[in-house]
Amino acid sequence: MTDCIFCKIIDGTIPSTKVYEDEHVLAFMDILPVTKGHVLLVPKTHRENLYEMNEEEAARLFAAAPKIANAIKAEFKPAGMNLLQNNEAFAGQAVFHFHLHFIPRYDETDGFQPTFDTKESLFPAATLTEIAAGIRKHI
Ligand code: 5GP
Ligand code: ZN
Repeated sequence: MTDCIFCKIIDGTIPSTKVYEDEHVLAFMDILPVTKGHVLLVPKTHRENLYEMNEEEAARLFAAAPKIANAIKAEFKPAGMNLLQNNEAFAGQAVFHFHLHFIPRYDETDGFQPTFDTKESLFPAATLTEIAAGIRKHI
């Protein structure tokens, strides 16, 4: 896709700091890292988000994930690692070419705060059954 930053990184028009590459995927350093070792993994075929990916593309992409996570872990010995993947602007997606973030974690002040505002009381067990049935209809 001509006006996509990540497609330009893939075709070499825009420079990037590459970490891993195979026929289907590319991993490179995030230009504005949240923590040291923040890497992005993208499919080489333009897909806007997860909704657009087929099972084979998703499988190929995730096949590379343990390699990348373990390489970051081996190099920086982080205390933990978060994988993040935003779909659509409302969820924080800024670049509309699918990407999986690898964010190594070092301590409470490292800049990444994956907090959940849980709403257990709003979704009791009976409601969860109903919600799950609704989702299953579309699978
Ligand atoms: P999103 O918010 O879409 O999940 O994340 C987009 C990420 O892409 C951000 O973390 C941002 O720093 C990174 N990014 C944006 N433009 C470039 C670029 O030109 N090169 C690289 N390496 N990363 C980029
Ligand atoms: Zn693209």
